[in-house]
Amino acid sequence: MKDRDYDVALIGSGPTNLWAADELIRSDPRLKVAIFEKNNFSSGGMINDCKLNLSHKIGVDLDELKIPEEYAHGLIEIVDQRFLYFGADPYVSGTNEEEVNKWVEKAERSGVELIACRQRHIGTDQAKVIVEKFRQDLESKFVEFYMQTNVKDIQKKDDVFQLFTDSGEFRAKYVLCAPGRDGAYWLRDLAGRLGVKYRWGPVDIGVRLEVRKEVYDPITNIIYDPKFVLKTKCHGDKVRTFCSNPGGRVRLEPSAVNGFKLINGDALKKHKTPNTNFAILNTVDLTQPYADTTEMARNIAIDANRMGGGRPLVQRMGDFLEGRRSKTETFFDRAMGYDLIMPTLKPGLPPEGSVTPGDINLAYKARIMNNLKESFERLNRILYGITNPATLIYAPEIKFYDTKYKTNKNLETNVANFFVAGDGAGKSRGIVWAAGTGIIAARGILDKL
Ligand SMILES: Cc1cc2nc3c(=O)[nH]c(=O)nc-3n(C[C@H](O)[C@H](O)[C@H](O)COP(=O)(O)OP(=O)(O)OC[C@H]3O[C@@H](n4cnc5c(N)ncnc54)[C@H](O)[C@@H]3O)c2cc1C
Repeated sequence: MKDRDYDVALIGSGPTNLWAADELIRSDPRLKVAIFEKNNFSSGGMINDCKLNLSHKIGVDLDELKIPEEYAHGLIEIVDQRFLYFGADPYVSGTNEEEVNKWVEKAERSGVELIACRQRHIGTDQAKVIVEKFRQDLESKFVEFYMQTNVKDIQKKDDVFQLFTDSGEFRAKYVLCAPGRDGAYWLRDLAGRLGVKYRWGPVDIGVRLEVRKEVYDPITNIIYDPKFVLKTKCHGDKVRTFCSNPGGRVRLEPSAVNGFKLINGDALKKHKTPNTNFAILNTVDLTQPYADTTEMARNIAIDANRMGGGRPLVQRMGDFLEGRRSKTETFFDRAMGYDLIMPTLKPGLPPEGSVTPGDINLAYKARIMNNLKESFERLNRILYGITNPATLIYAPEIKFYDTKYKTNKNLETNVANFFVAGDGAGKSRGIVWAAGTGIIAARGILDKL
């Protein structure tokens, strides 16, 4: 084989491909495996907060993957064991059944479902250490990492894939594409060129709330990241909470994809803030004549950034509920009670500020806003304080994992030897299941060798 020829090319160095590489190289150490990553540090979203939802009920749709529950449990165990091997905190939350059940019942009384599961929190600080150890381990087994190597295009010629990158051309017999949410749009373009079949699925559009830590502590002390799910009365739509960060920080998503910035959040293991943040997401599905959920969500994200003068928006709950925009002059107003919560993502102009006080209503569609408003009020019945006027609402928080690729049970697409996995391919919605789908695809490749 020539230098730039590989058995397997893995696009993206997120959890999907770390676990895929691990599975491939442990099963067949002679394989030539390369990971291509456009950034200078592996591994995608895994270095952010890194809370592990150790369940098949969160972050995955087993029907989409075509796997039974028992098999899913086995995959979760493999992923978790690898984290522990590289030094993850052994503490797991969500195991006190009696306390968990009390919360499940309390939520039920407000017509809200609480999905409880075992969770392990790594933290942004510790996740970086684990990712580095994982990478060194793979390199010691001769997996080659090409960092800062953007894969621009992939073409198939005579049963071999040609990868066109900004560091030149590479070839591989098998390709596993896992470019994450950041690369979802790129993957969709590429799929069109390669003739890979896909369809549009629902997209999650919402906001991130930041409250004082003591508002959310009663539940996060029992379940680190509680997943509340409800069907709204106003439109009958699904809304859920997602990615809670007790003592955490609201963050801009690390990469500013395609000309707009998105809101997210994380928490450190060693340093806590006085606040807790979590996302509230409305699942939006479209039918004919216009079903392109990606494009709709992109337009909302662009609008929200436009309203913020090129930055995401932040609004006080008091302003939001009374139908007025938030303003810089009154953002910390004592008389309005706005000095009660200090934002962890500063309002104002860069370099100090990252978000703009404004009106989220102007950027979001009425149906989404109605759903969110009703959800705030119903969640406030479970955890009093959510609708405090000082609560901070950040937007846009959008999860781009809506394009669904047609794959077989090994995650191979209709283009032979071209596999897709992870969030960017709509196969997972979180670290554990991104890794799980990486293992499935790797096993699929091993089957074909
Ligand atoms: C701030 C933040 C906090 C989060 N917190 C959590 C959490 O606590 N728990 C949880 O389960 N999930 C969390 N997530 C989500 C989690 O990070 C993702 O679900 C997970 O990383 C998806 O894995 P992936 O392998 O599919 O993609 P990613 O981890 O996104 O990795 C994809 C990689 O591919 C690279 N790439 C894209 N296109 C190309 C290309 N053309 N060429 C080369 N490289 C390319 C990207 O740079 C990226 O590094 C968080 C995400 C963010 C942004």
